[in-house]
Amino acid sequence: MFNKKTVRDYDFRGKRVLVRVDFNVPIKAGKVSDDTRIQAALPTIRYLLDQGAAIILCSHLGRPKGKPEAEFSLRPVAAHLSGLVGRPVGFVESCIGPEAKAAAARMRAGDVLLLENTRFYKEEEKNDPAFSSELASLAEVFVNDAFGSAHRAHASTEGVAHHLPAVAGFLMEQELAYLGKALAISERPFVAILGGAKISDKIGVVESLAARADRLLIGGGMANTFLAAQGLAMGDSLVEAESVEKAKGLLQRAGERLLLPTDVVIGDKFEAGAGRQVVAVNAIPAGWRAMDIGPQTVEAFTRAVKGAKLIVWNGPMGVFEFPAFAGGTQAVAQAVADSGATSVIGGGDSVAAVKQAGLADRITHISTGGGASLEFLEGRTLPGVAALQDK
Ligand code: ADP
Ligand code: MG
Repeated sequence: MFNKKTVRDYDFRGKRVLVRVDFNVPIKAGKVSDDTRIQAALPTIRYLLDQGAAIILCSHLGRPKGKPEAEFSLRPVAAHLSGLVGRPVGFVESCIGPEAKAAAARMRAGDVLLLENTRFYKEEEKNDPAFSSELASLAEVFVNDAFGSAHRAHASTEGVAHHLPAVAGFLMEQELAYLGKALAISERPFVAILGGAKISDKIGVVESLAARADRLLIGGGMANTFLAAQGLAMGDSLVEAESVEKAKGLLQRAGERLLLPTDVVIGDKFEAGAGRQVVAVNAIPAGWRAMDIGPQTVEAFTRAVKGAKLIVWNGPMGVFEFPAFAGGTQAVAQAVADSGATSVIGGGDSVAAVKQAGLADRITHISTGGGASLEFLEGRTLPGVAALQDK
């Protein structure tokens, strides 16, 4: 399945290595407030250091508009990473040009340097070949460990790979190995669980999983549009009118494999302290909105998950940020953890929900890449992966 060269296939001794990582981390008051993504890159960084390489790290952070913006600087990440790897991490305020070149040229085996945010250059998102070539000129080999950015054909994820020997890091390899299992449906029954706010965000993956899964459980805001497609009155629930026709088609194609909520927890406002009731899906009063799956649905979903050998989950079952509406998501997380199946969870909010439930270590694989994991599960080629050297 995974036919790309990895860091194990290259001799890094004495080499300068450009490593694309995903350090797109939240920063509050000049400090990294959640370092999950930095932690995820450590196996590759430590391996390269052990191999005697000098490491030049690059990443994007946030969405600056092609020019430097102080709030999106990676400088705080250099300090944080330094603490994690127990050695100094140099930082330059550029990705290309004389300063970056000089800093790279000074490097010795064991040195670590972090470049400034790649998105401070408009050439990054345009995948500009001259920019890619300049970036590549800093190093002798390229390692891509930024799975979360692999669905974008940008200079630092794709373009640069055309100028250097290019191999996958461990995180990239691990992500593709587990998501590859889900895509290939290596084990059955294969149960897909989808939720979150909207169908329109995820229509490709919904279509793909609807065609392939033995069971497709749909909860969260996404389920509302399916329920509306069945003609139910959804009150003030989040419903995407423009996706109702798509939902009808999916319902028809998936037939009995698709499970929808039969009861929901409703609230009278979109607030943590909203009035709360459990009702059947055909009994949502006007002025109320579906905010979680109900207990009967939890039971049905739990039963479906029990027999699974392979589970993919994306999207919470309700507004889990409000404790009164987090029960469905937590119960499904528990069922997935207890199932004994190979379980793969992707999506920023889904991962947050599983962590909040204290069950992260009982999930086989937690994907760091939301958009990338969805595109991969749709069966689309990820440009950042395609550009790596074949085995
Ligand atoms: P992920 O980040 O895991 O891909 P999404 O971003 O698609 O997930 O969706 C997560 C969001 O969906 C959460 O903020 C959650 O509050 C919201 N959500 C889930 N169920 C509902 C619902 N019934 N009504 C409104 N929002 C919902
Ligand atoms: Mg999200």
